[in-house]
Amino acid sequence: MNVVYTREALQAELQKYRAQQQSIGFVPTMGALHDGHLALVDATRRQASCTVVSIFVNPVQFNDPQDYALYPRTIEADLQLLDAHQADLVFIPEVQEIYPQGTAHLETYALGTLETVLEGAYRPGHFQGVARVMRRLLELVQPDVLVMGEKDYQQCLIIQRLLQLMGLSPRFYMHPTVRETDGLAMSSRNRRLSDTDRRKATLIYESLMYISSQWRNMPFERLQAVVSEQLQAAGFVIDYVVIARSADLQILHAPEDTQMRALIAATLSGVRLIDNMVINP
Ligand code: AMP
Repeated sequence: MNVVYTREALQAELQKYRAQQQSIGFVPTMGALHDGHLALVDATRRQASCTVVSIFVNPVQFNDPQDYALYPRTIEADLQLLDAHQADLVFIPEVQEIYPQGTAHLETYALGTLETVLEGAYRPGHFQGVARVMRRLLELVQPDVLVMGEKDYQQCLIIQRLLQLMGLSPRFYMHPTVRETDGLAMSSRNRRLSDTDRRKATLIYESLMYISSQWRNMPFERLQAVVSEQLQAAGFVIDYVVIARSADLQILHAPEDTQMRALIAATLSGVRLIDNMVINP
């Protein structure tokens, strides 16, 4: 496994793969890797001849400076895991490597309503920040296959939009959410939960399962209220509990004949957790 820190070194390595006509699969991450990330790496290895992973905690996608400061950074452990999962190339840039002109005046993308609903509403500027870093990474790596996680479903839609805007068409594989045995979606932020909160956190998954089992029996508004009350009673501060159309994340107030998805974002003792699930698979 090769580890590179600069754009030049990355290009030099990628050039070698391209010269051998190898297909390039790409998994962008912010590190603090867990089995969810590693499942993406394994899936990429199956779909491309060369697996490239980036580790970059992107400052311009954090609307909360505290969240950026507290974001776990575990590079040594990450490299060991990536090596064990046979990644070929790991790119670990510094901030100035990605934003050589600084981060003060960056471009804006026409991301449409996807940018302002749900995560976009609660994390202003977040998806512009995601688009900014992803444009730079995609330009550098130019992958044949791009692999991202369904846990961040809205992010997947944003990146599909970005690919359209950039005129790129790698194969986009959305990997299903990888969960702990009790259902909690794996997340780097889970490390910040106390033991008590870790046990409570599974309630998000249980709430999604409850919505999946009850949406035919209860009006959506009522169902969302019941779930919100349960989460609040357990100590969560809720951003949203909604049912939305998978295709465009339009909030739904009644069932419709398309793929529907329940999405939850809630904070437990300062740790913000998100999860989602298709409710009519
Ligand atoms: P992050 O490091 O949080 O930016 O995540 C890097 C990639 O891993 C993103 O595409 C995430 O959606 C994906 N990912 C994170 N957690 C999970 C999970 N539990 N299951 C599947 N994919 C995940």
